[in-house]
Amino acid sequence: MSAIPRSEVKLEETWNLKDLFASESDYEARLDEIREAVRKFSEQYKGNVTDAASALSALKDYAAIYEKIIPAGTYVNLLQSEDQTNSDHQMRGAAFGSLMAKSSAEMSFFESELSQLPEEELKQAMEQSEDFRIYLRDILRFKPHKLHPEVEKVLAAFSSVLDAPYELYNVTKLVDMDFPDFEAGGEQFPNSYNLFEGTWETDPDTEKRRAAYKAFYEKLADYQHTTAKTYDTHLQTEKTTSDLRGFDTVFDYLLFNQEVDRELYDRQIDLIMKELAPHMRRYAKLLQNVHGIDRMTFADLKVPLDPSYEPKITIEESKKYIFEALSVMGDDYSEMLKRSYDERWTDFAQNKGKSTGAFCSSPYGVHPYILISWSGSMEDVFVLAHELGHAGHFYNSNRAQGVFNARPSLYFIEAPSTMNEMLMANHLLKNSDDPRFKRWVIASIVARTYYHNFVTHLLEAAYQRKVYERIDAGQSVNAGVLNELKRGVLEEFWGSDVTIEEGAELTWMRQPHYYMGLYPYTYSAGLTISTQVSKRILDEGEPAVNEWLEVLRAGGTKSPVELAKMAGVDITTDAPLRDTIAYIGGLIDQLEQLTEEVAANTKA
Ligand SMILES: [Zn+2]
Repeated sequence: MSAIPRSEVKLEETWNLKDLFASESDYEARLDEIREAVRKFSEQYKGNVTDAASALSALKDYAAIYEKIIPAGTYVNLLQSEDQTNSDHQMRGAAFGSLMAKSSAEMSFFESELSQLPEEELKQAMEQSEDFRIYLRDILRFKPHKLHPEVEKVLAAFSSVLDAPYELYNVTKLVDMDFPDFEAGGEQFPNSYNLFEGTWETDPDTEKRRAAYKAFYEKLADYQHTTAKTYDTHLQTEKTTSDLRGFDTVFDYLLFNQEVDRELYDRQIDLIMKELAPHMRRYAKLLQNVHGIDRMTFADLKVPLDPSYEPKITIEESKKYIFEALSVMGDDYSEMLKRSYDERWTDFAQNKGKSTGAFCSSPYGVHPYILISWSGSMEDVFVLAHELGHAGHFYNSNRAQGVFNARPSLYFIEAPSTMNEMLMANHLLKNSDDPRFKRWVIASIVARTYYHNFVTHLLEAAYQRKVYERIDAGQSVNAGVLNELKRGVLEEFWGSDVTIEEGAELTWMRQPHYYMGLYPYTYSAGLTISTQVSKRILDEGEPAVNEWLEVLRAGGTKSPVELAKMAGVDITTDAPLRDTIAYIGGLIDQLEQLTEEVAANTKA
């Protein structure tokens, strides 16, 4: 139960990074190759990118350098994420960061020269190469925001310094914060980020859950000022960059790469804050009644509806669920799922210093990797299905597209992942008529899929928007301001149905996404698309699946609006979002009805 050091985890529960580099010396050799390739590139092309032909020839070499860098960067990041306390990993990460800063400074002339080409040369190059069309289109789009070549070079040289706040955030959170044991019912229990989020936060024992909560947030409070200052540094860096590059607002700057206009962004936040809140308050009430909690607090929201029904699931047992639920995606997809277990793509271990939450990293040219801390709950199966959704996305797009075409807008990133959660739920529901089982499955989607994507991340998005509004107005933030903004959003959403007790305002400290631009809102955007498409798959079967696979393969060659359209969803209107909110309301109706049925059956 207590977090063990990385050195004690079982090999079979770890990912096999040897598929990236067989040994540390192979990794080192790759760094030499990169240095040499970058030197040659700058020698050959600096001052020589003058027309469509030279641009395309340079782009081929440029892409080849990226293909060398990606596995090295992945290797460094994955090692760091498996154990942030490992100083070798930290040092390797820092060394790689400065190599990247140096290399991008050395190669920054390239984008500057491309940007200075006459528009007709760029357009001609775009027509001649499908692989670089999107990349060149973005060079053209970004042209008005490009700075003097020497300025671009300096910014590139400072890139690892400018990215430092995210590193600092992780070091504070995962290295410095040491959580003391907490006491409940006369017993001592260990605590950590992963234990709190993976175990205690959902513990059905109210006394224990609340004691863990109190101890967890007391430790966060000790670090709130450092964490806030780190975050403010990140925000000021973004705002300064946005100003220097001539964007009207920091929102325009951050949405630029997403190819999303402000309307789509605002609609997602406004509509959910207003229309989803009443449904979720009903859900909180249901939890309160079922568990006989006299006063519902923020610390009680993640308790499962029917904890005694929660089966324990081993990693081995997860295969059956994953294989069966996702088999609807076809043979090629199923083959990938099997490989993910057989070739150890996933790091399941629970250890000290491991990154919290879960993620999937999909290096171009290699297979995807997944990080998760397996605690054995059904929620883990949903999380794994989610991460395999990212894997399945890039498994398809990386094979179908060139390195610069594979990755779509952030807006779309969470659609394939949440799709797999829906497929998992639909599969489980289809195979049972037992009201208790059905209630447990629906509760899992509400408590996990929709709660996570439409509540947790959306409330982060609503808070983040308030933060950026301040930053745009030329202000800064500190712990006091962030606490107030976070508390305000929580209180607005939950109203008088849930008490936002002391500590909850520090929830902003838990989320690394704030260092990734306007990311939090994209979860609900992605799930809106996937809810609609999963309904189509349920109704229409294979034709809808095939269209979806087509969308996955399209990678970054289409905008989010176009990708959604390919899958039959029009996100330029608010209809899909309203329909999805109504669907969530319907799930909560079902939970209420099934709870009555279960109670009646128990009496009978
Ligand atoms: Zn995801």
